Amino acid sequence: MKEALYYTKLDGNKAQCGLCPHNCIVADGKAGFCRVRSNRGGVLYSDIFARVTSYGLDPIEKKPLYHFHPGRLISSFGTKGCNLSCAFCQNYSISQDPDAPDEEVTPSAAVRAALRDGSFGIAYTYTEPMIWFEYVLETARLARAAGLRNVLVTNGLVNEKPLRALIPYVDAMNVDVKSMDDGFYRKVCSGMLAPVLKTVELAVKGGCHVEVTNLVIPTLNDAPENFEKLRDWLSVAAGDLVPLHFSRYFPMYKLDIPPTPVATLEKACAIAREKLKYVYVGNAGGGDRDNTLCPACGNLQVQRRGYSARIVGIKDGKCAKCGRATDIVGV
Ligand code: SF4
Repeated sequence: MKEALYYTKLDGNKAQCGLCPHNCIVADGKAGFCRVRSNRGGVLYSDIFARVTSYGLDPIEKKPLYHFHPGRLISSFGTKGCNLSCAFCQNYSISQDPDAPDEEVTPSAAVRAALRDGSFGIAYTYTEPMIWFEYVLETARLARAAGLRNVLVTNGLVNEKPLRALIPYVDAMNVDVKSMDDGFYRKVCSGMLAPVLKTVELAVKGGCHVEVTNLVIPTLNDAPENFEKLRDWLSVAAGDLVPLHFSRYFPMYKLDIPPTPVATLEKACAIAREKLKYVYVGNAGGGDRDNTLCPACGNLQVQRRGYSARIVGIKDGKCAKCGRATDIVGV
Protein backbone atom coordinates (compact mmCIF):
# COMPACT_ATOMS: atom_id res chain seq x y z
CA MET A 1 0.00 0.00 0.00
CA LYS A 2 1.19 3.48 -0.80
CA GLU A 3 -0.61 6.76 -0.38
CA ALA A 4 -2.08 7.73 -3.73
CA LEU A 5 -1.00 10.72 -5.77
CA TYR A 6 -3.68 13.02 -7.21
CA TYR A 7 -6.52 12.93 -4.73
CA THR A 8 -8.44 15.41 -2.60
CA LYS A 9 -9.67 14.92 0.95
CA LEU A 10 -13.39 15.64 1.34
CA ASP A 11 -15.71 15.99 4.33
CA GLY A 12 -16.83 12.86 6.13
CA ASN A 13 -13.55 11.01 5.52
CA LYS A 14 -14.29 10.79 1.81
CA ALA A 15 -11.57 11.13 -0.81
CA GLN A 16 -11.86 12.13 -4.46
CA CYS A 17 -9.37 10.43 -6.76
CA GLY A 18 -8.11 12.61 -9.60
CA LEU A 19 -6.07 10.03 -11.46
CA CYS A 20 -8.55 9.20 -14.19
CA PRO A 21 -11.70 10.75 -15.64
CA HIS A 22 -13.97 8.70 -13.40
CA ASN A 23 -12.85 11.07 -10.62
CA CYS A 24 -14.33 8.64 -8.07
CA ILE A 25 -15.51 9.92 -4.72
CA VAL A 26 -14.45 7.08 -2.45
CA ALA A 27 -16.04 6.61 0.97
CA ASP A 28 -13.99 5.44 3.95
CA GLY A 29 -13.46 1.68 3.73
CA LYS A 30 -14.37 1.54 0.02
CA ALA A 31 -12.45 1.36 -3.26
CA GLY A 32 -12.86 3.30 -6.49
CA PHE A 33 -14.24 1.95 -9.77
CA CYS A 34 -10.87 0.37 -10.58
CA ARG A 35 -11.07 -1.58 -7.26
CA VAL A 36 -7.39 -0.99 -6.49
CA ARG A 37 -7.39 2.50 -4.95
CA SER A 38 -9.05 2.52 -1.57
CA ASN A 39 -9.90 4.95 1.20
CA ARG A 40 -8.71 4.09 4.71
CA GLY A 41 -9.56 6.68 7.29
CA GLY A 42 -9.83 9.47 4.73
CA VAL A 43 -6.49 8.67 3.08
CA LEU A 44 -6.53 7.27 -0.46
CA TYR A 45 -4.08 4.45 -1.11
CA SER A 46 -2.85 2.55 -4.11
CA ASP A 47 -3.41 -1.08 -3.07
CA ILE A 48 -1.26 -2.40 -5.91
CA PHE A 49 2.00 -0.51 -5.42
CA ALA A 50 4.75 -3.09 -6.15
CA ARG A 51 2.14 -5.86 -6.54
CA VAL A 52 2.80 -7.77 -9.77
CA THR A 53 0.45 -10.42 -11.15
CA SER A 54 2.34 -11.14 -14.36
CA TYR A 55 5.93 -10.92 -15.56
CA GLY A 56 7.30 -11.99 -18.94
CA LEU A 57 10.13 -11.29 -21.35
CA ASP A 58 8.08 -10.53 -24.45
CA PRO A 59 8.82 -9.56 -28.02
CA ILE A 60 8.09 -5.86 -28.41
CA GLU A 61 5.82 -6.88 -31.31
CA LYS A 62 3.43 -8.43 -28.77
CA LYS A 63 2.50 -5.02 -27.27
CA PRO A 64 2.02 -4.33 -30.26
CA LEU A 65 4.78 -1.88 -31.14
CA TYR A 66 6.06 -2.45 -34.68
CA HIS A 67 8.11 0.71 -35.14
CA PHE A 68 10.07 0.66 -31.89
CA HIS A 69 13.18 -1.52 -31.66
CA PRO A 70 11.72 -4.35 -33.78
CA GLY A 71 12.79 -7.86 -32.85
CA ARG A 72 13.87 -6.94 -29.31
CA LEU A 73 12.63 -8.49 -26.07
CA ILE A 74 11.20 -6.33 -23.32
CA SER A 75 10.58 -7.09 -19.64
CA SER A 76 6.84 -6.84 -19.15
CA PHE A 77 5.03 -6.29 -15.86
CA GLY A 78 1.33 -6.18 -15.10
CA THR A 79 -0.88 -5.76 -12.09
CA LYS A 80 -4.60 -6.16 -11.42
CA GLY A 81 -7.65 -3.94 -11.63
CA CYS A 82 -8.76 -1.64 -14.43
CA ASN A 83 -10.58 1.65 -14.85
CA LEU A 84 -12.65 0.17 -17.68
CA SER A 85 -14.86 -2.90 -17.58
CA CYS A 86 -14.91 -3.95 -21.23
CA ALA A 87 -17.35 -6.77 -21.92
CA PHE A 88 -14.75 -8.32 -24.25
CA CYS A 89 -11.73 -8.00 -21.91
CA GLN A 90 -8.96 -10.40 -22.89
CA ASN A 91 -7.39 -10.32 -19.42
CA TYR A 92 -10.50 -10.23 -17.28
CA SER A 93 -9.18 -12.77 -14.76
CA ILE A 94 -6.71 -10.17 -13.51
CA SER A 95 -8.28 -6.89 -14.67
CA GLN A 96 -11.60 -7.53 -12.98
CA ASP A 97 -10.43 -9.46 -9.90
CA PRO A 98 -8.83 -7.43 -7.10
CA ASP A 99 -8.01 -10.72 -5.34
CA ALA A 100 -5.99 -12.15 -8.25
CA PRO A 101 -2.74 -13.70 -6.96
CA ASP A 102 0.25 -11.36 -7.03
CA GLU A 103 3.73 -10.99 -5.59
CA GLU A 104 5.89 -8.12 -4.47
CA VAL A 105 8.30 -6.66 -7.02
CA THR A 106 9.66 -3.32 -5.86
CA PRO A 107 10.60 -0.68 -8.47
CA SER A 108 14.31 -1.39 -7.98
CA ALA A 109 13.69 -5.16 -8.22
CA ALA A 110 11.82 -4.63 -11.52
CA VAL A 111 14.77 -2.70 -12.91
CA ARG A 112 17.22 -5.36 -11.68
CA ALA A 113 15.09 -8.07 -13.33
CA ALA A 114 15.09 -6.22 -16.65
CA LEU A 115 18.86 -5.74 -16.56
CA ARG A 116 19.42 -9.36 -15.49
CA ASP A 117 17.28 -10.60 -18.40
CA GLY A 118 19.16 -8.49 -20.93
CA SER A 119 16.03 -6.53 -21.81
CA PHE A 120 16.24 -3.10 -23.42
CA GLY A 121 13.40 -1.77 -21.29
CA ILE A 122 10.32 -2.26 -19.19
CA ALA A 123 6.77 -2.50 -20.51
CA TYR A 124 3.88 -1.74 -18.17
CA THR A 125 1.23 -3.89 -19.77
CA TYR A 126 -1.21 -6.85 -19.57
CA THR A 127 -3.75 -4.72 -17.65
CA GLU A 128 -4.04 -0.94 -17.32
CA PRO A 129 -0.81 0.77 -16.20
CA MET A 130 -2.39 4.18 -15.57
CA ILE A 131 -4.15 2.92 -12.43
CA TRP A 132 -0.73 1.65 -11.28
CA PHE A 133 0.49 5.21 -11.54
CA GLU A 134 2.64 5.53 -8.41
CA TYR A 135 4.52 2.31 -9.17
CA VAL A 136 4.91 3.04 -12.88
CA LEU A 137 6.25 6.54 -12.22
CA GLU A 138 8.79 5.40 -9.62
CA THR A 139 9.91 2.40 -11.67
CA ALA A 140 10.11 4.41 -14.88
CA ARG A 141 12.38 6.99 -13.21
CA LEU A 142 14.74 4.25 -11.99
CA ALA A 143 14.60 2.43 -15.32
CA ARG A 144 15.45 5.61 -17.23
CA ALA A 145 18.42 6.25 -14.91
CA ALA A 146 19.61 2.68 -15.58
CA GLY A 147 19.53 3.26 -19.36
CA LEU A 148 16.32 1.28 -19.96
CA ARG A 149 13.37 2.35 -22.12
CA ASN A 150 9.85 2.63 -20.70
CA VAL A 151 6.83 1.44 -22.64
CA LEU A 152 3.14 1.80 -21.73
CA VAL A 153 0.37 -0.30 -23.20
CA THR A 154 -2.66 1.64 -22.14
CA ASN A 155 -6.36 2.28 -22.63
CA GLY A 156 -5.48 5.99 -22.43
CA LEU A 157 -8.08 6.79 -19.78
CA VAL A 158 -6.14 9.10 -17.50
CA ASN A 159 -6.42 12.71 -16.45
CA GLU A 160 -4.20 15.29 -18.06
CA LYS A 161 -2.20 16.31 -14.98
CA PRO A 162 -0.86 12.85 -14.08
CA LEU A 163 -0.32 12.05 -17.75
CA ARG A 164 1.83 15.15 -18.19
CA ALA A 165 3.89 14.12 -15.16
CA LEU A 166 4.51 10.64 -16.58
CA ILE A 167 5.17 11.41 -20.25
CA PRO A 168 8.76 12.66 -19.77
CA TYR A 169 9.73 9.15 -18.60
CA VAL A 170 7.88 7.24 -21.31
CA ASP A 171 9.65 6.36 -24.55
CA ALA A 172 6.80 4.60 -26.33
CA MET A 173 3.10 3.98 -25.90
CA ASN A 174 0.54 1.83 -27.54
CA VAL A 175 -2.87 3.37 -26.90
CA ASP A 176 -6.05 1.40 -27.43
CA VAL A 177 -8.65 3.50 -29.21
CA LYS A 178 -11.55 1.10 -28.94
CA SER A 179 -14.05 3.06 -30.99
CA MET A 180 -14.67 6.59 -32.21
CA ASP A 181 -18.14 6.42 -30.68
CA ASP A 182 -18.48 7.71 -27.13
CA GLY A 183 -21.64 5.60 -26.77
CA PHE A 184 -19.56 2.45 -27.35
CA TYR A 185 -17.18 3.47 -24.57
CA ARG A 186 -20.04 4.16 -22.17
CA LYS A 187 -22.15 1.08 -22.98
CA VAL A 188 -19.53 -1.61 -23.55
CA CYS A 189 -16.59 -0.38 -21.43
CA SER A 190 -18.01 1.98 -18.78
CA GLY A 191 -15.62 4.64 -20.01
CA MET A 192 -15.52 7.68 -22.26
CA LEU A 193 -13.83 8.54 -25.55
CA ALA A 194 -12.59 12.13 -25.35
CA PRO A 195 -9.87 11.60 -22.68
CA VAL A 196 -8.46 8.68 -24.67
CA LEU A 197 -8.03 10.84 -27.76
CA LYS A 198 -6.48 13.56 -25.59
CA THR A 199 -3.95 11.05 -24.25
CA VAL A 200 -2.79 10.20 -27.77
CA GLU A 201 -2.51 13.88 -28.65
CA LEU A 202 -0.53 14.75 -25.50
CA ALA A 203 1.79 11.76 -25.86
CA VAL A 204 2.61 12.73 -29.44
CA LYS A 205 3.19 16.35 -28.43
CA GLY A 206 5.34 15.15 -25.51
CA GLY A 207 7.70 13.33 -27.85
CA CYS A 208 6.66 9.73 -27.12
CA HIS A 209 6.74 7.20 -29.89
CA VAL A 210 3.02 6.38 -30.26
CA GLU A 211 1.18 3.53 -31.94
CA VAL A 212 -2.57 2.97 -31.81
CA THR A 213 -4.61 -0.23 -31.66
CA ASN A 214 -8.27 -0.68 -32.57
CA LEU A 215 -9.88 -4.02 -31.66
CA VAL A 216 -12.56 -4.58 -34.28
CA ILE A 217 -15.70 -6.26 -32.92
CA PRO A 218 -18.48 -7.32 -35.30
CA THR A 219 -21.66 -5.24 -34.97
CA LEU A 220 -20.25 -3.08 -32.14
CA ASN A 221 -17.53 -0.96 -33.77
CA ASP A 222 -17.03 -2.34 -37.29
CA ALA A 223 -19.00 0.24 -39.28
CA PRO A 224 -16.93 1.88 -42.06
CA GLU A 225 -17.69 5.28 -40.48
CA ASN A 226 -15.78 4.19 -37.35
CA PHE A 227 -12.68 3.44 -39.43
CA GLU A 228 -13.09 6.69 -41.38
CA LYS A 229 -13.37 8.75 -38.21
CA LEU A 230 -10.37 7.00 -36.67
CA ARG A 231 -8.31 7.57 -39.83
CA ASP A 232 -9.29 11.23 -40.11
CA TRP A 233 -8.64 12.07 -36.46
CA LEU A 234 -5.40 10.07 -36.18
CA SER A 235 -3.84 11.44 -39.35
CA VAL A 236 -4.28 14.96 -37.93
CA ALA A 237 -3.52 14.20 -34.26
CA ALA A 238 -0.43 12.06 -34.85
CA GLY A 239 0.42 12.50 -38.53
CA ASP A 240 0.25 10.03 -41.39
CA LEU A 241 3.31 8.06 -40.23
CA VAL A 242 1.75 6.83 -36.97
CA PRO A 243 1.35 3.03 -37.02
CA LEU A 244 -2.25 1.84 -36.64
CA HIS A 245 -3.02 -1.76 -35.67
CA PHE A 246 -6.41 -3.29 -36.35
CA SER A 247 -6.76 -6.29 -34.09
CA ARG A 248 -9.06 -9.25 -34.59
CA TYR A 249 -11.57 -9.86 -31.82
CA PHE A 250 -12.27 -13.35 -30.45
CA PRO A 251 -15.12 -14.14 -28.02
CA MET A 252 -14.06 -13.53 -24.43
CA TYR A 253 -15.46 -12.70 -20.98
CA LYS A 254 -19.08 -11.51 -21.45
CA LEU A 255 -19.15 -11.34 -25.26
CA ASP A 256 -20.00 -14.34 -27.42
CA ILE A 257 -20.22 -12.57 -30.78
CA PRO A 258 -18.30 -14.70 -33.36
CA PRO A 259 -14.73 -13.61 -34.29
CA THR A 260 -14.18 -10.69 -36.66
CA PRO A 261 -14.21 -11.80 -40.31
CA VAL A 262 -10.84 -11.18 -41.97
CA ALA A 263 -12.69 -9.35 -44.76
CA THR A 264 -13.81 -6.72 -42.22
CA LEU A 265 -10.21 -6.16 -41.14
CA GLU A 266 -9.12 -5.83 -44.75
CA LYS A 267 -11.86 -3.27 -45.33
CA ALA A 268 -10.69 -1.35 -42.24
CA CYS A 269 -7.11 -1.40 -43.58
CA ALA A 270 -8.18 -0.16 -47.00
CA ILE A 271 -10.04 2.77 -45.43
CA ALA A 272 -7.19 3.68 -43.05
CA ARG A 273 -4.55 3.47 -45.80
CA GLU A 274 -6.24 6.30 -47.65
CA LYS A 275 -4.55 8.65 -45.15
CA LEU A 276 -2.09 6.57 -43.08
CA LYS A 277 1.12 5.00 -44.35
CA TYR A 278 1.49 2.17 -41.82
CA VAL A 279 -1.60 0.06 -41.13
CA TYR A 280 -1.32 -3.46 -39.70
CA VAL A 281 -3.63 -6.31 -38.76
CA GLY A 282 -3.09 -8.38 -35.63
CA ASN A 283 -4.48 -11.77 -34.51
CA ALA A 284 -5.43 -12.66 -38.06
CA GLY A 285 -2.92 -15.31 -39.10
CA GLY A 286 -0.10 -13.18 -40.44
CA GLY A 287 0.46 -12.94 -44.18
CA ASP A 288 1.69 -9.66 -45.60
CA ARG A 289 -0.59 -7.63 -43.34
CA ASP A 290 2.09 -7.55 -40.61
CA ASN A 291 5.06 -6.53 -42.75
CA THR A 292 6.50 -3.03 -43.02
CA LEU A 293 6.96 -1.73 -46.55
CA CYS A 294 8.75 1.47 -47.50
CA PRO A 295 6.04 4.03 -48.25
CA ALA A 296 8.18 5.52 -51.03
CA CYS A 297 9.23 2.46 -53.04
CA GLY A 298 7.33 -0.52 -51.54
CA ASN A 299 10.53 -2.32 -50.49
CA LEU A 300 10.02 -4.92 -47.74
CA GLN A 301 11.75 -3.40 -44.69
CA VAL A 302 10.61 -5.61 -41.77
CA GLN A 303 9.23 -9.10 -42.22
CA ARG A 304 7.05 -10.41 -39.38
CA ARG A 305 5.80 -13.90 -38.62
CA GLY A 306 3.72 -14.04 -35.46
CA TYR A 307 5.73 -12.10 -32.89
CA SER A 308 9.08 -12.52 -34.64
CA ALA A 309 10.48 -9.68 -36.73
CA ARG A 310 13.36 -9.69 -39.19
CA ILE A 311 14.84 -6.47 -40.51
CA VAL A 312 15.45 -7.26 -44.15
CA GLY A 313 15.36 -3.94 -46.04
CA ILE A 314 16.83 -1.23 -43.80
CA LYS A 315 20.45 -0.14 -43.85
CA ASP A 316 21.91 2.56 -41.61
CA GLY A 317 18.43 3.82 -40.73
CA LYS A 318 17.37 4.12 -44.38
CA CYS A 319 15.42 2.05 -46.87
CA ALA A 320 17.98 -0.31 -48.41
CA LYS A 321 16.41 0.19 -51.85
CA CYS A 322 15.54 3.89 -52.23
CA GLY A 323 17.41 5.51 -49.33
CA ARG A 324 14.33 7.11 -47.71
CA ALA A 325 14.85 7.55 -43.94
CA THR A 326 12.99 4.82 -42.09
CA ASP A 327 10.13 5.65 -39.71
CA ILE A 328 11.21 2.95 -37.27
CA VAL A 329 12.94 3.78 -33.99
CA GLY A 330 15.98 1.72 -32.99
CA VAL A 331 17.14 0.23 -36.29
S1 SF4 B 1 -8.03 5.62 -10.89
FE1 SF4 B 1 -9.57 4.27 -9.98
S2 SF4 B 1 -10.23 5.32 -8.11
FE2 SF4 B 1 -9.12 6.81 -9.37
S3 SF4 B 1 -10.74 7.87 -10.51
FE3 SF4 B 1 -9.99 6.22 -11.82
S4 SF4 B 1 -11.31 4.46 -11.40
FE4 SF4 B 1 -11.64 5.96 -9.75
